[in-house]
Amino acid sequence: MNGEATKPIQFYGKVPQSNIEALEDRFGRHMSYLRISVTDRCNLKCTYCRPSKDTFCPIAHEAVLSFEEIARVVHVASSLGVDKVRLTGGEPLVRHGISELIRMLRDIPGIRDLALSTNAVLLKRHAPSLAEAGLKRLNISLDSLKPERFRKLSGGGDLNTVLQGIQAAVKYDFSPIKVNVVVMRGVNDDEIAELIDFGTEQDVQMRFIEFMPMCDGNSWSESHVPVSEMLSMPEVRARLADVPAENDGHAAARYIPLADGKGDVGFISPMSNRFCDGCNRLRLTADGKIRACLPADDEMDVRMVLRDGGSDKDIAECFRRAVLTKPEVGVYNFEEHGRARSMIQIGG
Ligand code: SAM
Repeated sequence: MNGEATKPIQFYGKVPQSNIEALEDRFGRHMSYLRISVTDRCNLKCTYCRPSKDTFCPIAHEAVLSFEEIARVVHVASSLGVDKVRLTGGEPLVRHGISELIRMLRDIPGIRDLALSTNAVLLKRHAPSLAEAGLKRLNISLDSLKPERFRKLSGGGDLNTVLQGIQAAVKYDFSPIKVNVVVMRGVNDDEIAELIDFGTEQDVQMRFIEFMPMCDGNSWSESHVPVSEMLSMPEVRARLADVPAENDGHAAARYIPLADGKGDVGFISPMSNRFCDGCNRLRLTADGKIRACLPADDEMDVRMVLRDGGSDKDIAECFRRAVLTKPEVGVYNFEEHGRARSMIQIGG
């Protein structure tokens, strides 16, 4: 970073931005992307995401990090080379005042990319304030275009509300808008082509994701559809240009141009074609644990450091220790459906 101008510091200005120390793991990967779960609460109950009632234990309200605590952690993370932040959950739009958090994070020096993942149930209502707060990038989950199927899959969700949320995102000029579909055998694997067409009609980018064995709600082997199989479906192939998929280094997705030249479609293969090599991700759970690998259960408790009066150096140390736990390859346990934490608890 030699020779770079020092940027003005607006939060807890103890760590000089000109002196960024990279968060490097044991395998030479640099961490630059922090995914923050702002809540483990969700207004949907997607079968593949939420564990069964018996194993889901919601985080107590007082254990959830405040916006000030999150902003402080992000400020320290930025001094360690993190420049991309995504707010997720649970459902981030159920957290009261979420636009205020966006405003706080937007102003942290070094954060050049701020994004949010949502199920879009509350997006129509929140789109204006999110846009006004300066949010640009949105990922939206949508697993089916069939109302009854969507209702079943999401534990009671109303497809029309979600579609209105997507329309509001387009209206308020969020860009890019990526729509994520978790593809599951016998559930929605017959809708890929239709969803690709939906992306073209709505002018949003569709991304199809392999189902991951994250919780005890599904049988992995029965539900998993590898990307290679998605791409071999004739109706899917017909919509894609016949060119090799491109991968942009850190990105978890391979993008394939559409045959009509109007954009491209992403295919994400966390199971059949791991992208651990280029993984630059860290996670902050709603209850203040830093986690370096989605399927590995090691976590560092940064909430304790924050609430015990720890310094920014102590927070940085938490990040360093978490990064040292990052395995070379994340291993999902296919047999045991019942990890220590599911997606809704860690933050997807
Ligand atoms: N509520 C927000 C949403 O719906 O996008 C953010 C949280 S959600 C956990 C984030 C992403 O994780 C969604 O795109 C969801 O489809 C994905 N996800 C959850 N469980 C998954 C699983 N078992 N396999 C693959 N993706 C999963």
